[in-house]
Amino acid sequence: MDPERYDPQQVEPKWTAAWEERALYRADENDTERARFYALDMFPYPSGDLHMGHLEAFAGGDVIARLKRMQGYNVLHPIGWDAFGLPAENAAISRGIHPKTWTRQNIDTQRATFQRLGISFDWSRTFNTCDPDYYRWTQWIFLRLYERGLAYRKASPVNWCPHDQTVLANEQVINGHCERCGHLVEKRELTQWFFRITEYAQALLDDMAELEDRWSDKVLTMQRNWIGRSVGAYVDFIISETGQTVRIFTTRPDTLYGATFFVLAPEHQLAEQLVAGTEHEAAFRRFRDTVDRETEVERLSTERDKTGVFLGAYAINPVNGERIPVWAADYVLLEYGTGAIMAVPAHDQRDFEFARKYGLPVRIVVQPEASEGSGEPGTGAPVKQAPPLDPGQMTEAMGHEGVMVNSGPYDGIPAGEAIRRVTADLAAQGRGEFAINYRLRDWLVSRQRYWGCPIPIIHCPSCGEVPVPDDALPVPLPDDVADFRPKGESPLATVSDWVNVDCPRCGTPARRETDTMDTFVDSSWYFLRYTGLDPERPFDPDRVARWMPVHQYTGGIEHAILHLLYSRFFVKFLHDLGLVGFREPFRALLNQGMVVMHGAAMSKSRGNLVEPATIIDEHGADVARLTMLFAGPFEDDVDWADVSPEGMARWIHRVWRAVRGAADSGAGHGGASDPALVRHAHRATQAVSDDLERFRFNTAVAKLMTLSNDLADAVRSGRGSATEQRDTAERLVLMLAPLAPFVTEELWHALGHTESVHLAAWPGYDPELVRVERLTCVVQVDGKVRDRIEVTADAGEDDLRALALASPKVKAALADRPIARVITVPPKLVNLVTAR
Ligand SMILES: [Zn+2]
Ligand SMILES: [Zn+2]
Repeated sequence: MDPERYDPQQVEPKWTAAWEERALYRADENDTERARFYALDMFPYPSGDLHMGHLEAFAGGDVIARLKRMQGYNVLHPIGWDAFGLPAENAAISRGIHPKTWTRQNIDTQRATFQRLGISFDWSRTFNTCDPDYYRWTQWIFLRLYERGLAYRKASPVNWCPHDQTVLANEQVINGHCERCGHLVEKRELTQWFFRITEYAQALLDDMAELEDRWSDKVLTMQRNWIGRSVGAYVDFIISETGQTVRIFTTRPDTLYGATFFVLAPEHQLAEQLVAGTEHEAAFRRFRDTVDRETEVERLSTERDKTGVFLGAYAINPVNGERIPVWAADYVLLEYGTGAIMAVPAHDQRDFEFARKYGLPVRIVVQPEASEGSGEPGTGAPVKQAPPLDPGQMTEAMGHEGVMVNSGPYDGIPAGEAIRRVTADLAAQGRGEFAINYRLRDWLVSRQRYWGCPIPIIHCPSCGEVPVPDDALPVPLPDDVADFRPKGESPLATVSDWVNVDCPRCGTPARRETDTMDTFVDSSWYFLRYTGLDPERPFDPDRVARWMPVHQYTGGIEHAILHLLYSRFFVKFLHDLGLVGFREPFRALLNQGMVVMHGAAMSKSRGNLVEPATIIDEHGADVARLTMLFAGPFEDDVDWADVSPEGMARWIHRVWRAVRGAADSGAGHGGASDPALVRHAHRATQAVSDDLERFRFNTAVAKLMTLSNDLADAVRSGRGSATEQRDTAERLVLMLAPLAPFVTEELWHALGHTESVHLAAWPGYDPELVRVERLTCVVQVDGKVRDRIEVTADAGEDDLRALALASPKVKAALADRPIARVITVPPKLVNLVTAR
């Protein structure tokens, strides 16, 4: 090999094979000395080769695993495949091959790409969720849920994707469209299997306290909003004509006196009953036909005109005996609350808009207090009542703050207090009760598709639903399905020798459940299985206790209310079974951004697809990894059009030459001692350690670039003793090792080491040498101050420039404009002058 040139195509396969042979990254189950660290990456769908999003996520996850290993932890960094489900199945169908064949091929391809990328996985415990050895336990967990009434079948209006010909969970409907294929989702009345995740709604909220600051606020907020807890009351109204009781949920029982009409969801059974055989029936039918074509998003939109029809009946308000008209309206949904509401137009915007449109009365029952003019607090001015509002003049609903008016015995009471009093009084009369309501619905898990885990239930004509006994698991997914294309019914229904079985309870002929489970069921517990491929159980509780909860989880934010919510639910359930000793599976969560091209998502059809394998072919895995990690903050989106693998390849060559130069200087080429070089090496060690610990991979690379420049210069000019140059080179190699595992392994050996750099200890630093004065450096763009960054007193022009360019504020101000000139006044000022 030419010692002057680093050739990744020669070096990388050599080390891949060596690491594989030595099982270098295998977690040690018997080690009782080292602390354990479970570094987990969300496992991929095998729907093709790895894409750029995978490269980003796994490059980041691998830095974490490698850093922890070098810091002395016993690291578990596993990988497997989320191998069932629609993406692979749809791809297989479009190619006319069996989903199993297609899935296995992709797994092999992805595995090879992972290995080429040098991701430090423990390959000894890999599995695919489509393996019978795995889905046997998915079925086992299903049965445990079933036994406890947490898995059940019911008929209800569900989301149906006409393209994928299957139902979807609420979480898989994104703005009214299918999460998988983007098709508009319809509502259908179907009997489906659900998991009672609502049973855990409060626990899912409460336990988020453990995750604050370790998960992003964004994910926690999304989950909180999705669960949607609201506190209020159930109130019972009576239908005047029939005497039936209809329960509503309201967060504002204090506004009951302001209810001027009553609304049922169009799908509410009572609406049907009330109009049947009346003059209102025809209008109601026409209305329902229109509503059935509207999506949930349209119905909930605040922009859209609300529509409804009068049902010809009246509801009696329990607080004052008033008869108010009953309407059906599209903005009330059957699945939210009870599917019925009291409408208080004065104090609710949607009710207000509806009342204005249909000429229904508006009655104010909460009078706001006058504001204090200037709003200055503590002036001691008495709180004045605002002049009474005229409902006829209102242009929108009013807020709820204030005192009660037009509310009989509650007049003059602050609204907040009235909420409690009205609720208590209703409860005393048996006409209502305090209530907590959640937006979260039960998780719909059955799918009318072939490529999934079979549901272990048998339908017997005499016994009804009969669970498959544990010792008869797994219920295998049959291979010989004539046609696995979606047709609205599971293709498994056509496999007669599989479907027809004897009832395990009474022995008479019965039929298997033919729906399969959503792939999100498979991924709700896979992280437990990685602790050891137990043949007798889903997982070994002792092993789980030693490794879990996961210390660091890395993956996409698109799973915020899907996988991340479902896994939390599963773990809480397994905790209640006594199988795990914790209630939260993932201690800390890191979400990578998306990888786009010229601002658009990459796809074959757009013709802007770049694949990791291509980058590896051209520049090697280290360059692919580094380019991605250097592209920007890990959580931000990366535009591949803005990055330069070529530039990164050149840097790797410079590192190669500098370190080899320093290795040679061991033979006596070094010069006089240079305290500045030593200080730089130690300070870089501190700063890079800190950056990597906080997942600031891009700034860590920037600092390593500065250090390598200094080393190259020292080697060239004979600055620093041979020992100092060598120590600097070793630090550079060690710190670069988690990011670029191949070139560093080669260089580590060139420095004379015989053991792998990936088993070496992370470098420390001398606190005396890193104690530096830190100053504030002003960063300007075209003379305008855009950021202030902390720098060390001895920061050079290159450091300042690199740090300035890494600042998100500066990036935003630059907005991709090219830089014509950089003026630096170390260490106080950087001015980036753009080309105009
Ligand atoms: Zn779809
Ligand atoms: Zn039976």
